[in-house]
Amino acid sequence: MNNKAIIIGCGIAGPVMALALKRVGIDATIYEAQPMPNDTKGAFLGISPNGLNVINDFLPLQEILTDYTPGKISFFNAQNKPIGLIDNAHQKDLYGSETVQLKRGLLNGALRKAAEQAGITIKFGKRLISLSQGHENTVTAFFEDGSQAEGNLLIGCDGIHSATRSCLFQDAIKPTYTGLLSTGGFTMIPGLSNLAGSIRMTFGQRSFFAYALSNKGEVWWFNNISQPDEPSQSELSQLEQAALKEKLLALHKHDPYPIADIIQAAQSIEIYPVYDIPFLPQWHKGRVCLIGDAAHATAPHIGQGASLALEDTVVLAKCIRDLPSLTEAFNRFQSLRQERVQTMIRQARKVGDSKTVPNAFQRFFRDLLLPFFVKMEAKKMDWVYSYKVDWESKIT
Ligand SMILES: Cc1cc2nc3c(=O)[nH]c(=O)nc-3n(C[C@H](O)[C@H](O)[C@H](O)COP(=O)(O)OP(=O)(O)OC[C@H]3O[C@@H](n4cnc5c(N)ncnc54)[C@H](O)[C@@H]3O)c2cc1C
Repeated sequence: MNNKAIIIGCGIAGPVMALALKRVGIDATIYEAQPMPNDTKGAFLGISPNGLNVINDFLPLQEILTDYTPGKISFFNAQNKPIGLIDNAHQKDLYGSETVQLKRGLLNGALRKAAEQAGITIKFGKRLISLSQGHENTVTAFFEDGSQAEGNLLIGCDGIHSATRSCLFQDAIKPTYTGLLSTGGFTMIPGLSNLAGSIRMTFGQRSFFAYALSNKGEVWWFNNISQPDEPSQSELSQLEQAALKEKLLALHKHDPYPIADIIQAAQSIEIYPVYDIPFLPQWHKGRVCLIGDAAHATAPHIGQGASLALEDTVVLAKCIRDLPSLTEAFNRFQSLRQERVQTMIRQARKVGDSKTVPNAFQRFFRDLLLPFFVKMEAKKMDWVYSYKVDWESKIT
């Protein structure tokens, strides 16, 4: 009997995993560490057709396309010279949907509500601290508040710093700091309407900056700062907003309009160190399996982390539906997914490395080579976007 699932984490993968399991006859309850839903938290992220097509299987895309910026990307060098374009004009015809940037809170909220509407229970304030797989056919999750839950299988959808992963593997690989910090936020700048149509990414003199105008006229922006030493959480939380703003203004001092204006107008700036998990040899143990960032976090530079997490949900549900045991299902899931995600993790690292510019000499060659690099990367994306999971086909 594998009909009762525990899902840890109600971010991007969690609610869709629960919906996919319901489709194959398994009831799931989601346990989320946050004390309550917060649909305004976080910055924004890109979702491409391979991720959007999974969402569209469970809720109409119109429900999330209420507040967005375009997915088309135009690249500039520090002199504001256009150096490349990733166009999504034909994505709808080719893949059925078109890359967009969405606020994380809006996406999380829509996925969570879709799960709730389907009758899935979500329990908040449930931070997983340990797991037990002692008894046949069951797994027990223990939470920080002293409560526990029992199921026949458990899926860890608890993100890059996954507690499920640490509980499963004593020597679990820790996420690797990639040498970049990401900052970003939302702001209003009157008079920027002529820049609508694409997200504009600038390889600035000392730092990388991207911004776009949303359908509601808001400016969404992010920057990447090269910082070789990993900052501690307390270092980041003690960083005053005013000091961060000054740092960003100094980094972008020589970069084109309106970068400094956007930073100057920012009300609240988020800051995150960028991590990835280059390779986790085993994604499952016993009745527990990891998906999404918990298994294979990728740096955000090719905008694929969320879409990969979404792809995982439907592939894993099909494996569980079609294979005779959980062990076979989890093994098959990992073998079907690992090569694809590893390739993207490596690609994202490569793009991230191009954002670091230690000196003028390297900057000169970077600007010379970037147009070719951008063109090559854009060409390489078809295999990423065209990925579609066919529910009807059987996994053998
Ligand atoms: C700055 C930045 C920019 C990004 N940009 C993009 C982008 O443009 N495109 C893209 O596709 N991806 C992007 N990503 C990556 C993307 O956010 C992740 O790949 C995606 O959120 C992974 O989904 P997930 O469900 O695996 O994890 P998450 O969405 O992180 O969800 C994990 C959930 O688990 C909960 N949780 C954590 N620990 C516990 C616990 N112990 N017990 C219970 N619950 C727990 C968390 O509160 C959270 O709700 C970006 C990431 C960052 C940091």
